[in-house]
Amino acid sequence: MKQPYEKPFIKKVQVGLMNKFGTGYGGHIRPDIDGVPISDLVTRFGSPLFVFSERRLRESYRTIHRAFSTRYPNIQFSWSYKTNYLDAVCAILHQEGETAEVVSELEYQKARRLGVPGNEIIFNGPYKPVEALKTAASEGATINIDHFDEVYDLEEVADSLGRRINVGIRLNMDTGISPQWTRFGFNLESGQALDAVKRIVSGDKLVLNGLHCHLGTFLLEPRAYATAIKKMVDFSYEIQDNFGLKIEYLDIGGGLPSRNRLKGIYLPPDVAVPSAGEFAEAICDTLLACLRPGDFPTLVLETGRAVVDEAGFLITTVHAAKRLPDGTRSYVLDAGLNLLFTAFWYNFKIELEKEIPGPHDSCVLYGPLCMNIDVLAENALLPPLPRGTRLIVSPVGAYNVTQWMQFIRSRPAVVLVSGNGDAEIIREAEDLTDLVGRERLPDRLKLR
Ligand SMILES: *Cc1c(COP(=O)(O)O)cnc(C)c1O
Repeated sequence: MKQPYEKPFIKKVQVGLMNKFGTGYGGHIRPDIDGVPISDLVTRFGSPLFVFSERRLRESYRTIHRAFSTRYPNIQFSWSYKTNYLDAVCAILHQEGETAEVVSELEYQKARRLGVPGNEIIFNGPYKPVEALKTAASEGATINIDHFDEVYDLEEVADSLGRRINVGIRLNMDTGISPQWTRFGFNLESGQALDAVKRIVSGDKLVLNGLHCHLGTFLLEPRAYATAIKKMVDFSYEIQDNFGLKIEYLDIGGGLPSRNRLKGIYLPPDVAVPSAGEFAEAICDTLLACLRPGDFPTLVLETGRAVVDEAGFLITTVHAAKRLPDGTRSYVLDAGLNLLFTAFWYNFKIELEKEIPGPHDSCVLYGPLCMNIDVLAENALLPPLPRGTRLIVSPVGAYNVTQWMQFIRSRPAVVLVSGNGDAEIIREAEDLTDLVGRERLPDRLKLR
């Protein structure tokens, strides 16, 4: 095959570690997603394009759910909306049996609008306006209290509803991992959590029936969860014995990792990331060992990224190629940080639609924004890419289609491949109307 001509150049030899990134993520070919060719997807829906795989989403939920449900008899999964609140994604997970976990009134409304009843919604987070608490309480949602001011707000809501409200409290604690998230909930070791219980009991307007925690995100340490569940069980019995309350659920939150590659971790995800089974074993074995005979409170899991991340792909196209002054190849893509906000933390897997001849070389992948920080990959190992080459970036299902920005460019379409060779739009591409729809230009500023 005739190689494309490339001007000769002199490249400075970089001294230092040979290749601290280990084997790069180059060399993978992905001609299709679940049987739908990449070229068909781009022809029909354009580039860039987010693609979600229904099969992978359901499989990953089932794998994680099975890991827990085979080890403990009373499990409830609750879908973390902020991780990905596309209607279609939420609907699939609700079909699978997940309730909804929301952290704002906007997410609450989105779940209600999809048809989730109030009593299948968990309302978490540090900022719950009183009106939102009132709606949630009157519709029977599970509310996990974050701070003392929320206790006072909820007591007011109880007064206005004329009845007591069931509540949980969020705990934060030392589980041996750092950084320790202390900004959410009541601290266990300092006695703050016990003070919260006492305050709730003495107010006599709220009924404490659950404990919640969420240790962090992308946690690689199953033992941290074992420590957390032990501390929660011990605390629940302390409360039950001293105040005559029944703790009906222990909500361990989310934070399980996906098979993504965190920057700074050079082992491949298959080595660095423990399986769902290892987390389930740490949590459920500890739980069963600490619970009193015959007591099986509901174990709630709010896993977000571990369920959805690997179901999401982004197809992007090479718009231009250029050499940097030090000889490094670089490319301008049609997708950047505006669509993949999480590129700050991950070295995504980057696959080619088809084999491209030429030596693999370290290159930089830039996004389309006029911003120096718009870099999708600082060090991808790829052959020379002609203009128009399509790259498939994954896993990108978690936190990207909620954190994406309407900055400089509008958001592209999102499609769902259903597993029977078909692809359907689940979110249309935005255009100028979406950008200007809510703007109002005062008459005196009109140009003509
Ligand atoms: C974000 C969040 C989750 C989901 O976290 P993941 O790391 O995506 O699993 C669960 N619970 C709470 C309270 C959260 O804020």
